[in-house]
Amino acid sequence: MNELHYQIDLLKAMNQKLSVREKMYHIMCDTADSALLYYSFDDKEVTCAGRWSEFFDFDIFDIKDISRLYEIVEETAVVELMEALYPEKNGEATSVFECCQRDKSKWYRFRVNVMFDDIKNPTDKVIRITDITMLKKQHEELTYLAYYDKSTGLYNRNYFVQLLENYLKRADELNDIVSVLVIDVDDFHKIKDGYGMVVGDEVIHQLGDFLNTFSGENVIVCHMDSDVYCMGIYSPAGKNSIKEVHKTIQNRIKKPFVMSNGREVFLTVSVGVAEYPEAAVSALELINCAEIVMYKCKDLGKNAIHFYDTNTLNEFLQTVEIENKLKEAISNQNFELYYQPQYYVGNKRLRGMEALIRWRDGEDKMISPGVFIPIAEKNGAIISIGTWVVEQSIRQYASWRNEYGVHLILSINISARQFEKENFVELLLKTLRKYDVDFSEIELEITESILIEDSEVVTEKLKILKNYGIRISLDDFGTGFSSLSYLKTLPINTLKIDKSFIDTVLSDSATRVITESIVDMVKSLGFESIAEGVEDEQQYKYLHAIGCDVIQGYFLGKPLPASEMEKLIQTMV
Ligand code: C2E
Ligand code: MG
Ligand code: MG
Repeated sequence: MNELHYQIDLLKAMNQKLSVREKMYHIMCDTADSALLYYSFDDKEVTCAGRWSEFFDFDIFDIKDISRLYEIVEETAVVELMEALYPEKNGEATSVFECCQRDKSKWYRFRVNVMFDDIKNPTDKVIRITDITMLKKQHEELTYLAYYDKSTGLYNRNYFVQLLENYLKRADELNDIVSVLVIDVDDFHKIKDGYGMVVGDEVIHQLGDFLNTFSGENVIVCHMDSDVYCMGIYSPAGKNSIKEVHKTIQNRIKKPFVMSNGREVFLTVSVGVAEYPEAAVSALELINCAEIVMYKCKDLGKNAIHFYDTNTLNEFLQTVEIENKLKEAISNQNFELYYQPQYYVGNKRLRGMEALIRWRDGEDKMISPGVFIPIAEKNGAIISIGTWVVEQSIRQYASWRNEYGVHLILSINISARQFEKENFVELLLKTLRKYDVDFSEIELEITESILIEDSEVVTEKLKILKNYGIRISLDDFGTGFSSLSYLKTLPINTLKIDKSFIDTVLSDSATRVITESIVDMVKSLGFESIAEGVEDEQQYKYLHAIGCDVIQGYFLGKPLPASEMEKLIQTMV
């Protein structure tokens, strides 16, 4: 009897344990994120569990019916899925296979596990089917982002470089050429500022779509950044020749880009071209070279195509070197001012002097302002350089004036960017007051380039300066647009006839005619004329004869360091 009780208790305990296990099994199946299929090889029984009913609208009770799964996946995947569902056929214990639903709405991952007994006969099999649609989408998105630029759908910079490297490898083996074009929208900031960012984005998108039409077996196109695109052409020829590609681009941009709001936007592009192997042998260097020429193209007036050559590179490298050294020069104040005397024609009395900057690079090397001023103008360094020149020259002039009691005219070159600064007038007046210099003894030399930008604002500023009694001189006259008619409206005192006229005035009759009419007109307008770069006596005599007022040039005096200029002033007192 005791034995029976014991057996009953044991059975009860086992039952309880079993029901706990069954409960656990159900919970695990129900909370799994997969549809599960269990097959017992001994009983030949199939059980569907987990999220089966959520995934599929059919059940499987017999292993033969597993073929129902083949019907839901893409036809091309059926054979592989059949293989994957029976790994035991090849003595394998596991297999994993991913494929798409036939209507392409879902992706599934099939993971199959088979258990074997001691003598390697299969005993149990579990097929887990997971919905991996989200995962696939994320993966696709990441893959897309790795290769493409989202805003245009073109290749992105990284992938473009990779593809370009492939072109270069092929070209190296086959002795071919690869061209790289950097295409940049001219004045894109004006489009963005004028029409807004949304239109700006649409322009970039539409231009990208257009450039993408060149894509093909031997042409790759990418969106580098903002308004810059890059094209790689393998063995450019025929319709893929640079000339043809550029012609097609030009033809397209002659027509407007029509925005979704109906607005028409016109644009032009600057194109720089560099060729493998001539310009460089790596993708990044090639792109760099093409970019350098594209910038040169911008400098030379935009809306054109320019080709890379060694001169361009040397020019660029020199500019970069100067730019770097210029930063140092500014912080160390490695500049010096020279002064070139100006004399009245006839009595050869000293009128004054023009302050000319010199950059001392090392012990005895001087870099000419003709080299670094244009670079400083471009990168903005001219503002601090110009401010230094104004302060330094006025301070120097004031000390000569106080020391020797002379009243001369100090001419200071002012660059357009410096002049445009809002506080320019204020700063100048402050400096003049600080050193107690008469406003009428200061002459600002400006060039015609100042007048191109916003001539109303510029004229207004010039008027203010002139009202204070500060003199204005138009420098390098004859090298810019030199319209005589606008001179009437400008509040200027002096006009400097450029050296290029003086150089040929004796040998070329046309130059003579122009020079004489300039001098006459200057007289009739009541200005003063200064001839620049007078190098010999004949030029001087001729200029005297035609009534030019002032002479500046090597004939009467080269630019001098301050100490030499001081000696010259001493001779006057
Ligand atoms: P610029 O204002 O037209 O100055 C006249 C230039 O002609 C000076 O060159 C001067 O040395 C040179 N020159 C004068 N007479 C003769 C001559 O008889 N023969 C020859 N061959 N040359 C003569 P520099 O000093 O090299 O200056 C070049 C240009 O750099 C200046 O042309 C001016 O535009 C600019 N520059 C010079 N200093 C400054 C400055 O402080 N600020 C700004 N913004 N520009 C400056
Ligand atoms: Mg000058
Ligand atoms: Mg000049």
